[in-house]
Amino acid sequence: MSDLVTLGQRIRHYRTAAGLTLDQLGDRVGVAGSQLSLMENGRREPRVTLLTAIGSELGVTLADLLDTTPPTPRAALEIELERAQRSPHYAGLGLPVVRAGRSMPDDVLESLVGLHRALLERERQAIATPEEARRANTAQRLHMRTLDNYLPDIEELAQQVVRESGHVSGALTHREVGLMAQKLGFELVYVNDLPHSARSVTDLDNGRIYLPPASIPGGHGLRSMALQAIAHRLLGHEVPTSYAEFLRQRLEINYFAAACLMPREQSVAFLSQAKADRNIAVEDFRDAFGVTHEAAALRFTNLATSHLDLTVHFLRVGDDGAVYKAYENDGLRLPVDVTGSTEGQLVCRTWSARAAFARTNRTTEYYQYTDTPEGTFWESTQIGTSASDEFSITVGVPFADSKWFRGRDTVNRHRSTCPDPTCCKRPDGELATRWKGKVWTSAKLHAHILSPLPSGTFPGVDDLELYRFLESHAADAEQ
Ligand SMILES: [Zn+2]
Repeated sequence: MSDLVTLGQRIRHYRTAAGLTLDQLGDRVGVAGSQLSLMENGRREPRVTLLTAIGSELGVTLADLLDTTPPTPRAALEIELERAQRSPHYAGLGLPVVRAGRSMPDDVLESLVGLHRALLERERQAIATPEEARRANTAQRLHMRTLDNYLPDIEELAQQVVRESGHVSGALTHREVGLMAQKLGFELVYVNDLPHSARSVTDLDNGRIYLPPASIPGGHGLRSMALQAIAHRLLGHEVPTSYAEFLRQRLEINYFAAACLMPREQSVAFLSQAKADRNIAVEDFRDAFGVTHEAAALRFTNLATSHLDLTVHFLRVGDDGAVYKAYENDGLRLPVDVTGSTEGQLVCRTWSARAAFARTNRTTEYYQYTDTPEGTFWESTQIGTSASDEFSITVGVPFADSKWFRGRDTVNRHRSTCPDPTCCKRPDGELATRWKGKVWTSAKLHAHILSPLPSGTFPGVDDLELYRFLESHAADAEQ
């Protein structure tokens, strides 16, 4: 019997409707009233023979007693309260269990049930707080660092799937991705009406993977999304029960898609040759495999340490200077908050990731050396544009390894002392004295859900940028 509480409620309902006390009904069916009470409270399971006897005494069928719906609205509330108080969640609070007997007024019962519902709702929401998201994200980045951003099992699986599709070299075509899906029993279907929050939907029953229509036919995005949907199946993912698991699954499907589009064997061959020629360039890797610059840069970080003997760093930074995504195993000190999280933190203004925004020619990579307290790094940055903003993609290595890269002969060299605030965060004395206390501004809300507000005089607004803005416009006003 899965639902003793409802069964007990139904027995009580029919007993009181028949005008019998516990002892009176107990006498007629041959059990003590106290035993019957335990059954009505869902604490003891009655045998079917007893239930049949109770039914015939009360003039109802066995089916009436075993019906799983609460007999009355009041009973429904009593059942809900009983269940809520039996949950491990409630037990953890160490509070007494109250019995919703007949003496409990309706409004008290409604109030208690309402509070339990609200408590559960809060608990459920807490699972997806930005704090938890940030913690999980940081834990995952640090874990991937210990693995040099390399997942051999997924590499192997992707290589095998690519091989079976008949793909040999170069860019994986849309048709080949379709064939891969077919081998796994799926048809790729492009639709205009996907649910807003879904990137893809897989119909397991009918073997169909629904994807959004191609904005750029054959583009990297669509092939990647189809591969990600396939990956969920291949990797045996279940519905995630925590944010950390959700993140891990997302990392795995992204990894799988990248490892199909840039298979290990072919990629390592390509990059090893480039290294031998002292001509490694993410832009070449990107073009050889027909993917985005960001995908190529990230894929480079998967293979660099395990296969090319290089430690690296990767940054995706917005035009506001905030980190969107970052990875390093080469000792570059990423900006982090007190929890160790880097998303939303501002990178040094002198780093390549920000310096590149100032360049007018953005069709090729920008190169620079950056001297930091942790050593000198060589970096290559490409600016990109999304629907809503501009961003930079950076791959860098320690100075000693710059010799393997195209762009090592750059004369661009910057010095960074961040996180020392005098490096590039704090307005200098004269500028600060000129404007302090003479301005009020309204901050934009940060679009990135994981972003905290950067610290400054005005939450969310960078002092230096603000003061410089004021300075330049004040000069206009005087003219
Ligand atoms: Zn700085």
